[in-house]
Amino acid sequence: MEKAECGGAVTALLKYALENKIVDAVLAIKKGVDLYDAVPSIITDPGEIGGSAGSLHCGTVLVSKLIKNYIGGAKDLKLGVTVKGCDVMGILELAKRDQINLDNIIMIGVNCGGTVSPVSARKMIAAKYGVDPADIVKEEIDKGQFIIMTKDGQHKGISIDELEEEGYGRRSNCRRCLYKIPRQADLACGNWGVIGDKAGKATFVEVCSEKGASLVEGAVKAGALETSPADPKGIAIRAKVEGAMLKLGEKWRKHDFSTIAENLWDVIRDETSRCIKCYSCIDNCPVCLPIKIELTKGTTMVPVGHLPPAPMFHMRRLAHISDSCINCGQCEELCPVEIPLALFSHAVRVEADATYHPKLGSAPYKN
Ligand code: FAD
Ligand code: SF4
Ligand code: SF4
Ligand code: SF4
Repeated sequence: MEKAECGGAVTALLKYALENKIVDAVLAIKKGVDLYDAVPSIITDPGEIGGSAGSLHCGTVLVSKLIKNYIGGAKDLKLGVTVKGCDVMGILELAKRDQINLDNIIMIGVNCGGTVSPVSARKMIAAKYGVDPADIVKEEIDKGQFIIMTKDGQHKGISIDELEEEGYGRRSNCRRCLYKIPRQADLACGNWGVIGDKAGKATFVEVCSEKGASLVEGAVKAGALETSPADPKGIAIRAKVEGAMLKLGEKWRKHDFSTIAENLWDVIRDETSRCIKCYSCIDNCPVCLPIKIELTKGTTMVPVGHLPPAPMFHMRRLAHISDSCINCGQCEELCPVEIPLALFSHAVRVEADATYHPKLGSAPYKN
């Protein structure tokens, strides 16, 4: 599949599922006007699935709340969906809250080293690569580099470590993320572990559930997918890369949390004093369920019309999410006054994680 990121397995499986009515619809990400524009798309025509192939690293969408808000929580239709680790966690959290029907969903996971915000990607490409961001036709993350390709065929890669040291690179929540291979999905697909002559041309598919196994088996039988056993050397390399990414995530957690550890409340109080109470952080958080329309009517705890809002506004938000923040970064990315909200809630949740089992994103859990 020409447009696919690796071997095209994800797209082939989604197409097979749709063609054979295993699912009624697919939710995948399509490129919009350019590669900084990742558009979540509901596809029902198998002929249109090809348009969603390829990975958009500068697209920072989270699909979980979209399933709740726009597809009725998949309660009345069967859905195939491409998911990163944070998407899986969001879906599981909403299923725990009875907002999504997991029985109707097949999750095809993609490994995720991280995403770059579209705004900072443009700035980074202009400043560090010396290229007009509009001239980029493809970007990829490979061997620790963020690589761009321009419309006149030039390639340039810069190490992500170097970019991040200078304040560019992945979103801060992605740096702290420890969910690189989404094993709570039905399948986890990626390029880590694809070696030799298959490198760059095949997808490494890890089967994580019976649903995933039967999808792959059916697609192979129908001739929609060609498979071969994973090379043991590739499996070892994959484990090594995953281990290195987890170590890096731990390093960033230590770094970021140390900046607020001493007086978390003082930092929260000062930073949130800029809040304009737009409710975006609540509307877009996959684990926070109140909706703007209800909140703007006022509650007993938070009076309406006050700016900055009473501290209870933020305390209540933190209370709603403190044991289940999935570190998706949506609250922070969408906050118009750039309050580092995900840092606060992630720090609180990681502390809670020290005692809670099972941990979010690390082991399968039942409702
Ligand atoms: P394709 O057939 O090309 O299908 C790709 C699927 O990904 C499509 O369904 C598309 O809608 C979906 N997609 C595209 N962009 C996004 C997005 N931003 N969010 C959610 N879904 C999206 N693999 C690794 O082994 N290591 C990595 O570090 C790594 N980082 C990744 C980071 C991101 C942001 C993404 C999206 C993917 C990453 N992958 C990584 C997975 C890899 O790029 C391929 O998606 C995977 O190998 C499947 O390849 P394929 O050819 O079978 O996929
Ligand atoms: Fe990927 Fe994790 Fe960032 Fe989600 S939070 S986009 S899974 S690195
Ligand atoms: Fe306040 Fe930012 Fe949340 Fe809007 S997104 S309510 S400004 S903290
Ligand atoms: Fe995501 Fe922010 Fe909600 Fe945490 S609080 S789950 S980072 S939107």
